[in-house]
Amino acid sequence: MITANSPDLRSWISVPADSDFPIQNIPFGIGSWNGEAPVPVTRIGDTVVDLSILAEAGLLDGTGIAREAFLAPHLNEVMQGGKQTMRALRERLSELFRHDNATLRDDNTLREDALLPVDQVVMHLPVTIGDYTDFYSSRQHAYNVGCMFRDPNNALLPNWLHLPVGYHGRASSIIPSGQPIHRPMGQRRPDPEKPPVFGPSVQLDFELEVAFITFAGKALGQRISTAEAEDHIFGLVLFNDWSARDIQAWEYVPLGPFLAKNFASSISPWVVTLDALEPLRVAGPVQDPAPLPYLVAERDGCFDVQLEVGIAPEGGAETTVCRSNFKHMYWNMAQQLAHHTVNGCNIRCGDMMASGTISGPEQDSYGSMLELSWRGTKPLQLADGSERKFINDGDTVVMRGHGSRNGVRIGFGEVRAKVLPVVE
Ligand code: MN
Repeated sequence: MITANSPDLRSWISVPADSDFPIQNIPFGIGSWNGEAPVPVTRIGDTVVDLSILAEAGLLDGTGIAREAFLAPHLNEVMQGGKQTMRALRERLSELFRHDNATLRDDNTLREDALLPVDQVVMHLPVTIGDYTDFYSSRQHAYNVGCMFRDPNNALLPNWLHLPVGYHGRASSIIPSGQPIHRPMGQRRPDPEKPPVFGPSVQLDFELEVAFITFAGKALGQRISTAEAEDHIFGLVLFNDWSARDIQAWEYVPLGPFLAKNFASSISPWVVTLDALEPLRVAGPVQDPAPLPYLVAERDGCFDVQLEVGIAPEGGAETTVCRSNFKHMYWNMAQQLAHHTVNGCNIRCGDMMASGTISGPEQDSYGSMLELSWRGTKPLQLADGSERKFINDGDTVVMRGHGSRNGVRIGFGEVRAKVLPVVE
């Protein structure tokens, strides 16, 4: 039992009904305000708490994390001690925020220095991301794509049920929520009988994903087992893997996605720890055929997190176009990490690994426009009456996620980004 997860806990910091951030969450991020340097922060309800102030006051001593780590503009230093120290930090913060703990509650000066309304805080990337990997672990998504681009009778490629398929993506273009993206330019071949053309992508898409962030792994050459994997996972963020379908369709043979993916990926700013998500743990789909022994995970490895995607046209209301769930993952995070390292590949503190598009079984639970509009053959209607096959310039795409157990709601907030026209 993780004490910080107890449903009975209450905070002296007010938490609005249906907030994603009750005292049982305690996510981590990097925030700045008044133009000052970004520092590690946490959040309860609509209040952001500056961890550098708490550390300077000595309130975070005893967690095994040096005070200086809380002055860095990313969480990598704070995370250096791994799972046990981050668990100690989250427990310490939980104690400080409890309704009956007077340490911070009754220290007016410290409280006024350390607490800020969330709308005054600019959120940044939570970690300096070393390497980024994208998996392809939702069976429904892989099946849908296989049906569209290959053969409904052989939709899954022969390897899919035997290993978590993935590719190495690009870390430099992962951006925080709120930062707009530009429609990418590129090569595509709209007419298979003619040469390719160059211009703006006309099939810009989102991919609804969840990504995990790692603590330091093992040395090069060593493996992380499924049993050990979660000790190397810090927490999760929502992940929009922007994709240009027309560029992708032309370029991806034989080495996989390249420019169709690496122009931007947007993430939510709050890292929700695996510990905070523990009450939402559920069994994943039955795996048949049984995986090879190195991929067998003894523990339930999926998490019941409801996900949704909305599209808001320029100046218009948002329409929810997708409702999915993180529990639909066929290959779970422990299996992904075990597979990633089974050849001796090392991972580092701050690496990011995304789930792959998370599609559920129903048509409105598909996690991309490619699937929702079935490659443009079934346009979606938005609240303003306009139609979408893919994403238009001026559209803002918003993803949200949360789960509830025992009256406690644990959520991620949102990741949003507006699509701007191509750079001329
Ligand atoms: Mn993806």
